[in-house]
Amino acid sequence: MVTETQRQKRNPVWTRDELLLALDYYFRHPRENPDPSKPSVQELTGQIGRVAKALGITGSDTLRNANGVSMKLLNFRRHDSYYQSKHQVGLQRGNRLEAEVWKEFENRQHDLRRIVANIVRAAASEEIPSPGEDDFEAPEGRLLVRIHRSRERNRRLIERKKASALNKDGCLVCEVCGFNFEAVYGERGRGFIECHHTLPVSLLECGATTKLRDLALVCANCHRMIHASRPWWTLEQARAALGHA
Ligand SMILES: [Zn+2]
Ligand SMILES: [Zn+2]
Repeated sequence: MVTETQRQKRNPVWTRDELLLALDYYFRHPRENPDPSKPSVQELTGQIGRVAKALGITGSDTLRNANGVSMKLLNFRRHDSYYQSKHQVGLQRGNRLEAEVWKEFENRQHDLRRIVANIVRAAASEEIPSPGEDDFEAPEGRLLVRIHRSRERNRRLIERKKASALNKDGCLVCEVCGFNFEAVYGERGRGFIECHHTLPVSLLECGATTKLRDLALVCANCHRMIHASRPWWTLEQARAALGHA
């Protein structure tokens, strides 16, 4: 049995993405003893390792072993009312992130299933976008955020979205505040606007093509505000904040 200190020394801290995989497994295998030798625990370990690798966690190909994964699964018992009522809450140590994801997804197990399936698919896909300067985290983890953001920055898509708006309205205006770069900055602002992907990260399908209707034209200010903290604002919430509802 390794002590917590030994474990922490060896292992980089678990990311939210990895924890979500473990939590989803926990919900799908209620009351199971997560023995590290179980094929299902080993399969989960492999998936978690690939996610860690996709996130660029160094040394992760060997770091997430079945013992560590099994311990993580046991940690979740602290939050499980079944074990709480039996006073068998498992390992007493746990961290804040475990408590957080438990609370967020205890009653959204179906959503979690879909999100995790997407994370696993994203980790296995050829195109793992590199972290952007704002590689922040959503409740759904970091990997899906990267995919979300990379879609917003997809040049070809942005051009198509702009062309369709120009065709329809004759100008490019922020769908939140109405800002028009060309009207304010003149020639330099012509054709300038950002795209925001309006589909929630939880509904994002890795590998699916982005539809133009899922993109909104937004000015740089509104776009930053939408992503400034979690949960991200919807366009409606951003408009309401500006009194444009
Ligand atoms: Zn705006
Ligand atoms: Zn955006």
